[in-house]
Amino acid sequence: MALPWGEYTFTCTDCHGDGNVQYVQAVVDEIGDETDEAELVWGKCEDCRGEGTVSVASIYRALAEHAKREAYPEAVEQAHADFATLNSGEVPQPRTEAQALKSR
Ligand SMILES: [Zn+2]
Repeated sequence: MALPWGEYTFTCTDCHGDGNVQYVQAVVDEIGDETDEAELVWGKCEDCRGEGTVSVASIYRALAEHAKREAYPEAVEQAHADFATLNSGEVPQPRTEAQALKSR
């Protein structure tokens, strides 16, 4: 079922429809270094890209991204396995001929 464009838009929950969000940012000194001080600044809401509303289309995009990950579980698993190998500091070694014969 195709939804009519613009009919299903929701007020952004991040900025409450304002399009801008206030956040804490480190104060930068004259030479561009971050200081220990922080200030409240206004910035464009990233959730709705400053529009104040979220449409169904963007929700669909998020769901499609999720579905893609679900569709390739073995790739995610392999990545996890590779990461675990890297973290253990061990390099997988090829089995010697003797070991290969024993396991037959
Ligand atoms: Zn927003």
